[in-house]
Amino acid sequence: MTEGTRDSQLALGCHLSVAQGFASMGQTALSIGATTFAFFTRNPRGGNAKPADEKDMAALRSLMQENGFGKLVAHAPYTMNLCSAKPDVVDFGRRAMAEDLRRLELLPNNYYNFHPGSHVGQGAQAGVALICQALDEVLAPGFATTVLLETMAGKGSEVGRTFEELQQILEGCACGDQLGVCLDTCHVWDGGYDVRDDLDGVLAEFDRVIGLDRLKALHLNDSKNPLGAHKDRHEKIGEGHIGLEAFGRIVRDPRLASLPMILETPNELDGYRQEIALLREAARTKEA
Ligand code: FE
Ligand code: FE
Ligand code: ZN
Repeated sequence: MTEGTRDSQLALGCHLSVAQGFASMGQTALSIGATTFAFFTRNPRGGNAKPADEKDMAALRSLMQENGFGKLVAHAPYTMNLCSAKPDVVDFGRRAMAEDLRRLELLPNNYYNFHPGSHVGQGAQAGVALICQALDEVLAPGFATTVLLETMAGKGSEVGRTFEELQQILEGCACGDQLGVCLDTCHVWDGGYDVRDDLDGVLAEFDRVIGLDRLKALHLNDSKNPLGAHKDRHEKIGEGHIGLEAFGRIVRDPRLASLPMILETPNELDGYRQEIALLREAARTKEA
């Protein structure tokens, strides 16, 4: 194990490109001190996924085990919208999710994160109903992947800005026990939840509405915009409105420290290496 992983149990990583395959993502993660990572299951704007390479995926599984990785957080394509008003868009989303989950059976016991969707004028309630319908169709009992709803910033007609909307989806699905939540710090901040000055209050609210046992992963992003802006513009850790001190509190929080934490900040690989080191350091530092 590297120095960083021994000093801190945090499963920290960033988005990596799947272009060179799965084992290669594992190697890249190790090279920047990461112990988890995220990847798009296919081109983020949609399209077909490459055929699964079983040997490559098995190699990643051993690498993860040997190096004490936390769970991976695969990301569904951005074009997935399970509550679109256009049936062909919903249909693409269902087929893509079903195919992605089948492939992820080769990397069992990890996470698959998706954006609940945009109801585009149909109303949040109609959106929630459509999402539940799609999930119940796609999720076969016995899948080894937990599907995570991502908390959204509330841009446009996005479903999932409030914890209540996410809870309605969890509750409205017959397959609810295969679902969890991925909390994106930039999104909840832009959505109006003050993770900077009231992390305790936000987590208490999450627990009251959804239950903290459903919180499975974090996206760590600072925000270019003030609280409640509904914009969704990620910033580097410590360079936005949330700020480094708040991220220190987040990575030190015993309710969060065991979750995989994924950076989606505007960085190249070396920037991610620095942010991972910064956050591992912050996890060890007691607040002054
Ligand atoms: Fe996302
Ligand atoms: Fe995110
Ligand atoms: Zn975002």
